[in-house]
Amino acid sequence: MKKEINYKSHCIKLLENRGCRIDDITDIVFDLQKKYIATLTRDVCEDAIDRVLDKREVQYAILTGIELDIQAENGKLSEPLQSLVAEDNPLFGIDEILVLSICNVYGTIGLTNFGYLDKVKPGIIGKLDKEGKDTHRCHTFLDDIIGAIAAAAASSVAHNSAL
Ligand code: MG
Repeated sequence: MKKEINYKSHCIKLLENRGCRIDDITDIVFDLQKKYIATLTRDVCEDAIDRVLDKREVQYAILTGIELDIQAENGKLSEPLQSLVAEDNPLFGIDEILVLSICNVYGTIGLTNFGYLDKVKPGIIGKLDKEGKDTHRCHTFLDDIIGAIAAAAASSVAHNSAL
């Protein structure tokens, strides 16, 4: 029988191996929501990230995106996909499309938050984006995955505080 995989802990490990800790995502969620919720704590943000990572569609997007980054980094994709992903071609856009399933898990504010994070690239998102451009590392999908997780978690925080 096939061994049961714990998708959530596998995804957290993948993110860590690619240079992003949950703590880095917590920083972004906290910064996004602190201006709206005076009593916000990092624990609340971390719980929200945890809920996002519980969702199967989120886990599948993480698995798929990170795999494509790794294969591109190792030159293992076929052309022309290899060049499109490795160069983070701005017209490619499939990295943003893949993570829409993550952004939308807590409603459409997730999409607004994602657009904002994609423009501003705060914290770990900017760091990984720069590393992807300046080194052999490929973070074409990773930066969008992180932005989308943060955006969805921020939406969850917003919804819960409005109750
Ligand atoms: Mg990208």
